[in-house]
Amino acid sequence: MDSLNEFSKTIERLLVSEEQGNQIQQHNFDQQHDKRRERRDFFQSRSEQLMSAVIHPRVEQVVKHFENAIMPSSESPHTHCIYQFDCRPRSPASTTLSFIISHDIKVERLSITYALRIVPIFMKFEREDTISFLLESVNDAQCKAWVETKLLSFLGTYLQLGHIEQYQRSNMITDPVCGAQINKTFAIAQETTTGKKQYFCSQACRDDFIRNNGK
Ligand SMILES: [Zn+2]
Repeated sequence: MDSLNEFSKTIERLLVSEEQGNQIQQHNFDQQHDKRRERRDFFQSRSEQLMSAVIHPRVEQVVKHFENAIMPSSESPHTHCIYQFDCRPRSPASTTLSFIISHDIKVERLSITYALRIVPIFMKFEREDTISFLLESVNDAQCKAWVETKLLSFLGTYLQLGHIEQYQRSNMITDPVCGAQINKTFAIAQETTTGKKQYFCSQACRDDFIRNNGK
């Protein structure tokens, strides 16, 4: 009997201690959850600042020069800055430029990722790069300099499209006067009497053409 009593108490102690353990664990979960939430809120406000003060103003300095650049509507404008460049004669490739701010699972680090997508691909270019900080010590000056460097890299790549043969194949045309192969996006254009456009390598060829054919 005594031993049975002892046994019953042992079981009770075990269950009580299990229950206490569960409560402590739950408390820890709650604390961690609150902490993560706090960090997430901080991440959110930090990325909003970075987008509005660092990334957007710099991206806009570039895209304002391109009429074919559009910003698709975004569900997460505080973490995503994305521009699409439609094909145009001088840059016949569909192009997407993006800066995306993200965090790791524990929300301890903030990263900015630059990505460039160009289709079709006929050349080597920097497709992606990331800069990363501890969430508490994101350095704005460093972010600004990095974003500017990435945008110059983008611009260099994008302008290069105009000089790469595979992209320009459909723009190549023959000068009717001297027979030179020229790129019509860089050539001198002249509308002829038939309403058709002719392209010339130089003003001299254009003048010759007009002399011989009338306007
Ligand atoms: Zn010519």
